[in-house]
Amino acid sequence: MTDSRTAASPVFTDAFGRQITYLRLSVTDRCNLRCHYCMPEGMTFLPKEMLLSYEEMLRLVGILAGNGVEKVRITGGEPFVRREVLGFLTELKNIDGLGKRYVTTNGVVPDKVFAHLPDLALSGVNLSLDSLDRARFARITRRDRLGQVLAFMDRVLDLGIPLKINVVVMSGQNEADLIPLANLTRELPVTVRFIEEMPFNGNQKQAAPVPWHYRRIEEYLGKTFPGLVRQPQLTGSTELLYRIPGHRGEVGIIAGYSRTFCGTCNRLRVNARGEMRTCLYGKKVLDLRRLMRSGADDAAIAGAIAAAVAGRFADGWSAQQDRDRRQPHNPSMSVIGG
Ligand code: SAM
Ligand code: SF4
Repeated sequence: MTDSRTAASPVFTDAFGRQITYLRLSVTDRCNLRCHYCMPEGMTFLPKEMLLSYEEMLRLVGILAGNGVEKVRITGGEPFVRREVLGFLTELKNIDGLGKRYVTTNGVVPDKVFAHLPDLALSGVNLSLDSLDRARFARITRRDRLGQVLAFMDRVLDLGIPLKINVVVMSGQNEADLIPLANLTRELPVTVRFIEEMPFNGNQKQAAPVPWHYRRIEEYLGKTFPGLVRQPQLTGSTELLYRIPGHRGEVGIIAGYSRTFCGTCNRLRVNARGEMRTCLYGKKVLDLRRLMRSGADDAAIAGAIAAAVAGRFADGWSAQQDRDRRQPHNPSMSVIGG
């Protein structure tokens, strides 16, 4: 591999002085669940040749890590449905400069993932779990798989891997689960994060304003847990964090619709077909698959990424305005790379 750390691209910094240190990399657009808020039934998936290969992904992560990216999150679709993903996750451990490796999963994983989880030395796992009730879980995800998800959660906890649970808050769907899910933090060292539903469902646009706005979620939790204490927000973090007195874990809120966090955003997203976004709400800004397959060397790829980062918008609202001009349809989160 050539040295991509050139004078032209010392690190990836945008016009607002925000440095990119975090990559969210989607390895597949496929999934074994069909959560209503994410994927309609009857999706068409990409053929294998349109996906970045593992070699291409490792090369890309190496280039980014050589230019200041310290953290990667592997996501999807459901990352564990891609064949040989365990080998890829193992290879990621060898990339210099990449200190932190995370996975976001729905927990419906093959048995061999249970067996090999310790070898991956993950810095943390984010697990999607929108309901603790079997019937509601099956309704939301269109699959009856709650038992498998809970078994995966236990495995992660037994191994002492830091665990965050993601809960999308949906009107008329899982309101009855919010307090039971928050109560997991009483005994378990987990962070349970409540996410505003975003309009990335591969469908029509969502009605505005979002029914479960972050302030409403905060107020609702505060009624059951009057001692709820907001923690200082970490730079680059998308979550508002709270402690509940006497609880081992924490609760969080992600204002994905309201976008309270854009000011310190430090991340890039690359979807399974190699399209890069500098903002979740914005359009794709670079076709990395085409660039890599055209024979570009590492320095050229780093230069193209730096140029795309330099053109970043100030926040998700302006990025979305720009995207909406060309693409009024909402892509699925599984296509953007969640
Ligand atoms: N399949 C994995 C999972 O569900 O964790 C990883 C991919 S999924 C797209 C990543 C995250 O995006 C999940 O926590 C999911 O809840 C969230 N997500 C998907 N669609 C969303 C939407 N419309 N609004 C808010 N969060 C969404
Ligand atoms: Fe699949 Fe995750 Fe989307 Fe649910 S949120 S359909 S588990 S990719």
